[in-house]
Amino acid sequence: MENGVMMQYFEWNLPNDGQLWNKLKQDAKHLHEIGVTAVWIPPAYKADEQQDEGYATYDLFDLGEFEQKGTVRTKYGTKEELKSMIDELHKYQISVYLDTVMNHKVAGDYTEKFMAQDVDPEDRHKMLSEPYEIQAWTGYTFPGRKDKYSDFKWHWYHFSGVEWDDAKRRSGIFRVVGENKYWNDDVDDEKGNYDYLLGNDLDLDHPEVIAELNKWGLWVSEELKLDGMRLDAIKHMRSGFIKQFLEVVRKERGDSFYAVGEYWNGDLETLDAYLDSVGNKLNLFDVPLHYNMYQASVEGEKYDMRHLFDNALVINRPTLAVTFVDNHDSQRGSSLESQVKDWFKPIAYALILLMKSGYPCIFYGDYYGVKGEKSPHRLILDILLDARRKYAYGEVEVYFDHPATVGFVRMGDDEHPGSGLALLVSDGKEGSKTMHVGEHRKGEVWYEFTGNRKEKVTIDEEGNGTFLVSAANLAIWVKQ
Ligand code: CA
Repeated sequence: MENGVMMQYFEWNLPNDGQLWNKLKQDAKHLHEIGVTAVWIPPAYKADEQQDEGYATYDLFDLGEFEQKGTVRTKYGTKEELKSMIDELHKYQISVYLDTVMNHKVAGDYTEKFMAQDVDPEDRHKMLSEPYEIQAWTGYTFPGRKDKYSDFKWHWYHFSGVEWDDAKRRSGIFRVVGENKYWNDDVDDEKGNYDYLLGNDLDLDHPEVIAELNKWGLWVSEELKLDGMRLDAIKHMRSGFIKQFLEVVRKERGDSFYAVGEYWNGDLETLDAYLDSVGNKLNLFDVPLHYNMYQASVEGEKYDMRHLFDNALVINRPTLAVTFVDNHDSQRGSSLESQVKDWFKPIAYALILLMKSGYPCIFYGDYYGVKGEKSPHRLILDILLDARRKYAYGEVEVYFDHPATVGFVRMGDDEHPGSGLALLVSDGKEGSKTMHVGEHRKGEVWYEFTGNRKEKVTIDEEGNGTFLVSAANLAIWVKQ
């Protein structure tokens, strides 16, 4: 979709009130009006306890429908509310992407005994013991669901590793020992082999596991009329599994079924190789760009803005990158904390929302706030979204040529009369830059759209304008 915008519609500290689906439903019209074209919703299935965010997955087929783990609803609401919310979003042509957790499960229904080995957490190829019998919570019967939608029962041999030996009351990483059983090999090579993340790690080489997850993928995307998925923790999952999973789902849902993967690694080459390994059939979050923005926000005016897009996925793979500033993992207090400082966020969002490449994703916390406190960024985000809709069209000319003051021009196009803009940002002092906006624009008078600057700029004979930006700020110049 032209100038599409995704919103991640949750943050880590939402109250456990079962109201997120209802809130999102009521927000559909407003989201449409501000230019949000897709929402990424949190894991919608039963976790180990009601207040869990959804990543401690228990039953993928329980979307808040069955009395399990002491609750029918999830943290976010019931299945009926979920479906009703999705219908409402679709009325406004807003796509829905479900957060999909297929790396692990937790909170089994009963314990099983099987052989395992202790593993060195820092080197997963290093075994710290001979195989011995452990007892772990790997048996799943989902008694509250009573085989509805699927009668599959999970057992220890569907997993490759667990974190708790109930016999010795000991935690650690225990590798499941059995026929054809080892860590999956096409995963991230951090810690030797990063197949294991947490909980009961699914063995994505096991034919029964693959078949069950494929079945679920088809079921959930039909049941909820999903438009796509956000795939969680894929660096811990066999890339061959992801590739075939998307093929299976798209065979039913069509090639336009969207997918973005969370591969949390700041190394461009790793992301690049991953995209090749899955045939470039999904998008990835631009983690390298996030880390650059974080670094810039920490260093302040000492940061050389010419390097902000160095090694960014959006430069290397413009059509496969989802650009973002922060998310539920990078936000303060979360597992991968690297929250971009507040002063830099308007600059960061201006860059990703007005540039030509990438699929920008706005974080709920940056728009609505975290822990119930209002975000200071909502006003500027509304302005930036408005600018994206009205002016961010046409080819781009880049001016990343100064340590503090950088920017780009969007040339505009014929389909959007009056479109085109000049964005200037500064991480240091007040600055100015002469930028070329097109000879056909000579004599035009441009003004600053956010209200940060009151001057007017007249485009000269050659089609150049000399634009201004305030210290540590942004300026969007457009035709008056
Ligand atoms: Ca895994």
